[in-house]
Amino acid sequence: MAGQTRIGVLALQGDVREHARVLTSLGAEVILVRRPRELDRLDGLIIPGGESSVMDKLTRSFGMQDPLRVAIGAGLPVYGTCAGLIMLADRIVQGIEGQETVGGLDVTVRRNAFGAQTESFEVDLDVPVLGAPPVRAAFIRAPVIERIGPGVEVLATLSDGTIVAVRQGPLLATAFHPEVTGDDRFHRLFVDTARRASGSRCGVVESTS
Ligand code: GLN
Repeated sequence: MAGQTRIGVLALQGDVREHARVLTSLGAEVILVRRPRELDRLDGLIIPGGESSVMDKLTRSFGMQDPLRVAIGAGLPVYGTCAGLIMLADRIVQGIEGQETVGGLDVTVRRNAFGAQTESFEVDLDVPVLGAPPVRAAFIRAPVIERIGPGVEVLATLSDGTIVAVRQGPLLATAFHPEVTGDDRFHRLFVDTARRASGSRCGVVESTS
């Protein structure tokens, strides 16, 4: 398949630049997404970390909530980190009053799960799908995944079994920020998923035309 993989980063709020930098280093074409039409022709989209309650409000005031739901429903690969995971979750615990999510990922997420004492920490995580070595994971006022639906695959847990990374078809989500610790393997996994999904979408078009 000729051409670069086009990955959008939802650029309403959060650590957009960090994701854009990793994606560029992997050879992807990066599109900063603020308007519905910018979702067109993407191979994948990253929803960054930040503050999910603010991102939710901006997503709605920029008219992005429905277009995002439609794109995810149509199978767009999306990777959510931290606040991005919250945005992707179908159910949220400890959201602010009236907080909504875009949804698509059949999980229940608990926002700000680590409380004030351990708001931020780093840990080495075993992620079997990425192989060795472990991933250095930065948790910053992070959520955790409390429940998963039957179609959701767990990719990583903390040592106490708390779920912190999952995949459901083309949707990938981590409670932590691999974009700030210099490990690009989650981004590689996502760009590969997006490239393959785009290849198969093109294949469908070619074989039916
Ligand atoms: N606590 C933030 C929220 O609720 C998430 C923090 C982050 O993305 N690093 O959205």
